[in-house]
Amino acid sequence: MPTVCQLALVIFALVISCFGEEDIGTVIGIDLGTTYSCVGFYKNGRVEIIANDQGERITPSYVAFKEGTGERLVGEGAKNQVKRNPENTIFDVKRLIGRTWDDPALQNDIKYFPFKVVKKEKKGKKEKEKQKKPYIEVNVGDKKKQFAPEEVSAMVLMKMKETAEDFLEQKVTHAVITVPAYFNDAQRRATKDAGTIAGLKVMRIINEPTAAAIAYGLDKKDEVKNILIFDLGGGTFDVSLMTFDNGIFKVRAIDGDTHLGGEDFDHRVMEYFIKLFKTKTGQDMRKDNRAIQRLRHEVEKAKRKLSYQVQAGIEIDSLYGGHDLSETLTRAKFEALNMDLFRSTLKPVEQVLKDSGIAKGNIDEIVLVGGSTRIPMIRELVKDFFNGKEPSKGINPDEAVAYGAAVEGGILSGEKELALIVLQDVTPLTIGTSITLSNNIMDPVIKRNTEIPCKKTRVYVTALDGQTNADFSIFEGERPMTADNHYLGGFVLRGIPPLPAGQAKMDASFEIDANGILTVKAVAGSSGSTGDITITSEQSSLSVGEIQRMINDAENFAEEDRKVKQRALAKNELQSFAYSIISKITEGKGISKSNLEKVKGAAENELKWISDHPGEERDVYEKRLIQLQNLVSPILANLHKDEL
Ligand code: AMP
Repeated sequence: MPTVCQLALVIFALVISCFGEEDIGTVIGIDLGTTYSCVGFYKNGRVEIIANDQGERITPSYVAFKEGTGERLVGEGAKNQVKRNPENTIFDVKRLIGRTWDDPALQNDIKYFPFKVVKKEKKGKKEKEKQKKPYIEVNVGDKKKQFAPEEVSAMVLMKMKETAEDFLEQKVTHAVITVPAYFNDAQRRATKDAGTIAGLKVMRIINEPTAAAIAYGLDKKDEVKNILIFDLGGGTFDVSLMTFDNGIFKVRAIDGDTHLGGEDFDHRVMEYFIKLFKTKTGQDMRKDNRAIQRLRHEVEKAKRKLSYQVQAGIEIDSLYGGHDLSETLTRAKFEALNMDLFRSTLKPVEQVLKDSGIAKGNIDEIVLVGGSTRIPMIRELVKDFFNGKEPSKGINPDEAVAYGAAVEGGILSGEKELALIVLQDVTPLTIGTSITLSNNIMDPVIKRNTEIPCKKTRVYVTALDGQTNADFSIFEGERPMTADNHYLGGFVLRGIPPLPAGQAKMDASFEIDANGILTVKAVAGSSGSTGDITITSEQSSLSVGEIQRMINDAENFAEEDRKVKQRALAKNELQSFAYSIISKITEGKGISKSNLEKVKGAAENELKWISDHPGEERDVYEKRLIQLQNLVSPILANLHKDEL
């Protein structure tokens, strides 16, 4: 049975081998955001950002299951009903994806989620690989269902895929998806798995700030520039320093925080109001999901207003225990509550300057991306840091990332105008092992900010006399001891010839592909008997069986969505026909009074029936439409067709 990683590699290998021959159609670029997602594509020399079925160019990354029916909603529809149905409305899964249950950042987040996040324990290959993954538990109709974060992200990706398909009027199968530069290996893999579940071949995972830089630099092909991208969104913060030189985008350094963004600012404000409310009313709303959800909504709205005005009112009737919340939040208070977080954004900026060896004064452009860069204090801090240099304008912070992903899609699908553009990315974290290692000292094999794709090899030797097995544990992180870094997974290399300590050799190779995904292989030197083994990173990945089950589920949901759409269309057709009878047919156009009453009465009856039966099957509406048509058509035979 192949491991997940092997599956991922097989899929990837297949994709590569197919690119030359298969018609991959239009490759879409998707910015899969914490709060909003955006999709675009590149054709005929330009990028098109696609509006969704509500006419919006960004779509909330929300999934909901309606109370009662369990009907699934994705995007605007899901977000709009969050206050009524908070337990079954899922958002922010990007903050969960690729994380383990014990991750303190995850534990902090789930305190504020109105939906339930549960722990699922699964056995890994070895005892220490026992996985504890977060799953989201919601009611789907009358059943409880648990979804992996990958599955929920897949639902959002499917929505973006459908948005593109509706616009292009053709099937879309290939995509480029963006992730925060600071996403680790597990988070990248999980995002790729989400794409697979959504029925997409993910041709490339690219870093969000890199994508933003492409968007920015595309029309400045002939210049040489150092660009600093400061990307502060809803849940993540990324800083990238790129050099743009005659069509080549080279990422020089990246840094950031996968857990810093607008929602952290919201949490601070919520915490403030929860305490204030308790002081004033003696009531603690913390356990009331609906109250917390309503507060979150209003706080986020007020925060946005504070980017343009100096104070904003927060009014929530009967918030908890029969008490209203009626407060004013000033910009100064908002800033005071968050100042340490705001200031912490400058550390990664300093780090990328240091790592790239580029002086502050040599930055030509500062590009602000992500909704939270609209906060005036953030802009001010960045400007002050760069000695008064103004950040660049003219790039839409909500669309820049999808724009760049679409360009990358264009490059990968062979668009001629893009032939000269080259993208050179780097790896965000040091990858290493503790094989030298009977001690726990990290051997940093691939250093952070190394250009990818890349491959590094190492020769290790046995530590004990007669040793026949070696434990390869792979870590990512910058700390000198492996225990302080993030464990990715590992394998045992068997069949090492029994020799005195230090004499049996093991050749290891560490390879990061263009998506930033890692493969580690090891061969026992002279015997070579064990061949190579691929790291499975089982800590956070899904098994092959799980992915397949999720693909099937996703297809079932898509089928269900299609049925809901068809049902709505059939209902709409019946309703419009009934309305058209009532509004357009008047007495004296060849229709007697009694016939007129008969058809209008039938139409009115039908409208009443529809309002009493909003959720019937498609064929029920269709049958009733035929009945109504049969009833009225002989009477209307005298009328001109256009009248209806
Ligand atoms: P993104 O992930 O780039 O879509 O950014 C979403 C985050 O930006 C959310 O936390 C929003 O609350 C925040 N945001 C959007 N517009 C504004 C604004 N005008 N002022 C402050 N924050 C904003």
